[in-house]
Formats: sequence, structure tokens, C-alpha cells
Amino acid sequence: MDVTQRESLLLAPFAMFSAKSAGRRYPEPEHPYRGPYQRDRDRILHSAAFRRLSGKMQVFTGDMGDYHRTRLTHTMEVASVARTMARVLRLNEDLVESLALLHDIGHPPFGHAGEDALAECLREEGGFSHNQFALTLVEELEVRYPEFPGLNLSQEILDGQLTRTDKTASAGWQPLLEVQLVDLADSIAYDAHDIDDAMVLGLVHADDLLHVPLASRALHRVHQRLGDIPEPRQALVRELIDIQVGAVLEKCSLELEEGGWASADEAHSSGYRLELPEEIAAEKRLLEKFLYTVVYRHEDLLRVRGQAQHQLAEMFQLLVSQPDQLSRQYQTRVDAVGLPRAVADYLGGMTDRYCYQRYSELTAGKNQDI
Ligand code: MG
Repeated sequence: MDVTQRESLLLAPFAMFSAKSAGRRYPEPEHPYRGPYQRDRDRILHSAAFRRLSGKMQVFTGDMGDYHRTRLTHTMEVASVARTMARVLRLNEDLVESLALLHDIGHPPFGHAGEDALAECLREEGGFSHNQFALTLVEELEVRYPEFPGLNLSQEILDGQLTRTDKTASAGWQPLLEVQLVDLADSIAYDAHDIDDAMVLGLVHADDLLHVPLASRALHRVHQRLGDIPEPRQALVRELIDIQVGAVLEKCSLELEEGGWASADEAHSSGYRLELPEEIAAEKRLLEKFLYTVVYRHEDLLRVRGQAQHQLAEMFQLLVSQPDQLSRQYQTRVDAVGLPRAVADYLGGMTDRYCYQRYSELTAGKNQDI
């Protein structure tokens, strides 16, 4: 059975069918046994930027232990949640998986702290955004094919990532359902795993969650099912994901059926949005507020954040004054995008560890001078 037959059997009419894809910028023959979005997924998976996700922090850094998520394991969790939902809603799983694997590929070292630092360095040059940098990586910086720059991904993948750069959707129009689904899966995954990681690191205790709406709802379900267990953390995380995924599926299955859209185009020009039911969404906002205050603004993380920002800003200045320290690819890139952007792109692609290493190398001579 080929991909077109398989999709026509399995997907809902409002899903994005690969036969209707707008194709690739550089035309290529179809693969004999993989559909276009399967190829996109494999291209992303085999890229250098994807592998580097293993060395990039999600929320917590490598020296805080070895339990918590990295940017890579976060990405795999998002892909897993998104595929589960896509299968139930009969959306295109291959497209969803590609979008999920891509969604955080543009994060610079040190998470949002690194992004803010680079944005500040490029304030006069249009700033720096990890969502935009993901596109730069897969369209320009990845070197895998002699025939074209980047990965030559299908247009729907690039458009999906582009909508992440500006989430203020215009009235009467929404991204493809597959794109919206990955967005939801991202936030379902990170709220749940950040609670898990923060509990293991001792930043949050089960008792703290009794007054945090979505978490207390999950704890209540744990107690109903398992009684008063001494260590509810893992069951709590499972319930947190299950409550949200279940709520999306229940609400959206009905709405998609009622919508009755005959194509992906109809669905996405209808303005329909895949969302959590408002009651759960409101509780989720309170959970995120709790995470922001208690976890993301924790003094250990603020200290790392400060160090990372200082380090990246210093490296940026050093490299702008010594462009011969850039790797050859980025020295060449200066002609295309100017020196400041080429330096930020060089820094943006680094893992946290490589960034530390380059920082020591670049500042070694300087510190000796002092
Ligand atoms: Mg993410």
C-alpha cells in the first residue's frame, strides 16, 4: 500500500494529505517507499541541529543532576503526545511528528536566557528568535546535500514553523490542524515534565500542589485510584498529561465532526482552533503561573540565567572583534548576513557544553593579559 492509499484510508477529510502538499523549494523525485512528511521527519532527525538538542537545557542545566529533561527528551515527549492525539483525531501523524521534532531545534544554548541574550546583542539588527532560527537552520545552515542548502523540507513544515514566530493569527484563519496540535502537545508536555523535574530537584513538593488547580485535580485522581500513596509524583505526571490530552480529544473530536470540513484548506480557513476546554485551560494558566513563580524564577535558575547571558554577550563581543575565531562556515556567512548576525548564528547553534568550552578558549588569552 503506498502513502496516498494509506492516508486515504486512515486520515479524516480535514487532515493535511501529503498528495496535496505544496512541495519543496528545490523539486526532488518522490521517494519509492516513504511519503514526503516521513522524509521530512527523517531529514530533521538526521540533522546536526537535532542531535545538538541533547546538549541543550530545557529548564534545568546539566550540573543540576541527570534526571531532568534536556531539550531533546522534551522534543521526544512532545512528538509522542502529539502523535497520540493526531492518531485519535485522524490527522496526519507523519506531518505532526515532523513538526514536533522541528519545533525547538532553533533554541540557542541556555534556553530562553540564551535567546534573550542574543536578542539583546542583535537589538539593532532585528533581534533573535529561536523560532525564526529553526527556519534559518533547516533552510540555510544545515549542510547535508550537495544540490541545495538546508534540508529542503516540505512547505507545510516550514509554514508551520513560521506560524510559531508570530502567534497572532489573523482573523478567520488558523494554522493547519496538525500545526495547532503540536503547539498544544508542547505545552501539555512541558507543564507536566517541569512539575516532575522540579519535584525531583526538591523545588516543588506534593503539598505545594494542593492549591494549584490543575495539579490538585490530577492529585485527586491519583488518590481516587491509588489511595494515599507516599510518592505520588509519577502518577501525578501521568494524570496531568492524561487529563489534558483526554480533554482535548473529547472536545475536539466532537467539534471536528460538527465542523464537517471536507479538506485541510476548509478547516484552516474556517478559523477553527484546537483548544482545551475553557475550564481546563483556565486551570492550566494558573498552573503555569505557579511554575513561573516557583520554578522558572527560582534563585538557582536565575543565577544560571545571569551567568549564561553575561557569557553569551561577552562571546558575542569577542567574536565580532575577532571574526577569524568563527568556524569557516560562519566566516563565509558574514558576506550574506553581516557580521553580527553571523556571530549570533554561530553562537545559536552551540550546545551548552560547547558554548562553555568556546568561552574558556576565547577568554583564556584575554584573562592571561589581565
Ligand atoms: Mg517545546
